[in-house]
Amino acid sequence: MTPSSSSRRTADTQTDRLIQGSAPTAAFRARRCLVAVALAAAASSLFAQQPAPDVILTNGKIITVDDRFTLAQAVAIRGERIVAVGSDAEVAKLATPATRRIDLRGRAVIPGLIDNHMHLTRAGTTWQWEVRWDGVGSRAAALEKLRARTKAVAPGEWIYTLGGWAIEQFSDDPRPFTREELDRIAPDNPVLLQASYYEAYLNSRALQQLGIDDKSPSNDWVVRDSAGRPTGRITEAGFRGLVAKLPEAPAPAVEASTLGMFRDLNRAGLTTFGVAGCDADLISLYKRWASEDKLNVRAFCINGVGVGTAPEQVDRALPRIADLKLFQGDNYVDDISYGESVYGPLHDPMFLRRSDPKPEQLALWRKIATEIARARLPLHVHANLTNTIDAFLDQIEAINKQYPVKNLRWVLAHANQLNATHLARMRELGLYAAVHPWAVINGGINQRVFGDAALDMAPLDTIQKSGVMWGFGSDGSRANQILPFTTLWWAVTGKMVGGTKVLRQPISREDALIAHTRRNAFLVFQENNLGSLQPGRLADLVVLDRDYLTIPVDQIKDIQPVMTIVGGRIVYEGKP
Ligand SMILES: [Zn+2]
Repeated sequence: MTPSSSSRRTADTQTDRLIQGSAPTAAFRARRCLVAVALAAAASSLFAQQPAPDVILTNGKIITVDDRFTLAQAVAIRGERIVAVGSDAEVAKLATPATRRIDLRGRAVIPGLIDNHMHLTRAGTTWQWEVRWDGVGSRAAALEKLRARTKAVAPGEWIYTLGGWAIEQFSDDPRPFTREELDRIAPDNPVLLQASYYEAYLNSRALQQLGIDDKSPSNDWVVRDSAGRPTGRITEAGFRGLVAKLPEAPAPAVEASTLGMFRDLNRAGLTTFGVAGCDADLISLYKRWASEDKLNVRAFCINGVGVGTAPEQVDRALPRIADLKLFQGDNYVDDISYGESVYGPLHDPMFLRRSDPKPEQLALWRKIATEIARARLPLHVHANLTNTIDAFLDQIEAINKQYPVKNLRWVLAHANQLNATHLARMRELGLYAAVHPWAVINGGINQRVFGDAALDMAPLDTIQKSGVMWGFGSDGSRANQILPFTTLWWAVTGKMVGGTKVLRQPISREDALIAHTRRNAFLVFQENNLGSLQPGRLADLVVLDRDYLTIPVDQIKDIQPVMTIVGGRIVYEGKP
């Protein structure tokens, strides 16, 4: 998509603030003329054959994340694509007086970060109303955000978090919230705090509005004190039903909420998503925004057909699979894969100690997956626990004999309990791994549920050395926090939010970055467009406030993008 002139103007206006000497001096213009002459003379040079760029970014440290992990000083952009990457001198030669110049002042630049699996459209429907505790490592800081929201809303209005954090990330005080504590903070508002997919904490007003009191029939998911009074704590079995009762926002408010979410995502350095479960209404909105050059993220949808659970329901649904037609979109919005569920009953819950897929369930799983292979569709399937992964691999190996899947980019998603044997089988089948490290927030819960094995969830070094194509996603916004620099910090230091060490096998910062950029480009079928900074690629890039490659590892989580560019458009600018 080519940006319209109006959007280009917007980008230029923003750029001007960073331009060094945007009104060229006479000497500058003369130099330009000389350069033009010199360029004309050197017509054989690759650089000279390029049309003039719209923007050049110079005097930086360009971490290209190309195949050789090349570092450069400067980038030139024309329209929505990168036209040159090189030294300051090489790139400066391409500029004409009309070219905007951005002086990076030594800053590091990386490709736009790709999250291979986020529930993006759903997140937009609640984003504006959620208190977000992504990456917040202390209870004090979390409560400050909660108090701020309490002050900002009217009495009676709901205040909530919908996952993306867990109590163990509060290094100063990881005790569960109590009803009384939340009553003191928000006496006049109902409060519901969903922690991961583990439990929720409610204050008195929320309990009252949801009809949970001393006299309500005893549900075992309502945690009560010795006198039978609800403590405000609701366990996993109950809170999903309660969350479903929260008020829904009207459509125009959802639009504003979604646009606000895009801004927060761009601020975090994110530019592209594999989107689990694209909502059709919202996707048509995304497409409209794309046509107006207002879509500041790229959304690649992972959608299935509802197949039901009974054998006859599955049989009835099968013909609809072959009707799915993917890859009809563009570089902003497209359908790329079947997923993330194949057969509902074989969908691992987050904190199940051990899965036990039954033969009759696997037979139905295989029936559906066979149809997906027969239709030559890519598949991105929720598979987390070791027994589930074993069982799915058995099925896929059998399917592969009938309908080869090697060139279909089938992906095992979440994959926290992958092991070396799985990876060897995956390599043979040409499968990819979408690694969604829930441990970034769930490290403490995982330790309780899975014991020592939690330290290898996920076994990053084993995955990295396996040769299997893999990349990072968050599975946000409810199942996990969404900040990519928090994920990268976890991958390199092995620490969950709050600082507790939860991972036995960290990887290098280079490999972690590659998994959040170039390798993810394969997972969203955009490897010729995204994931590295090279001539011909789309100009999605992030200017960082500090150098990802050289800062102390503990600072990786604190990196703040100062500028994010999507398709040559500046979509976020922070304080330099
Ligand atoms: Zn999932």
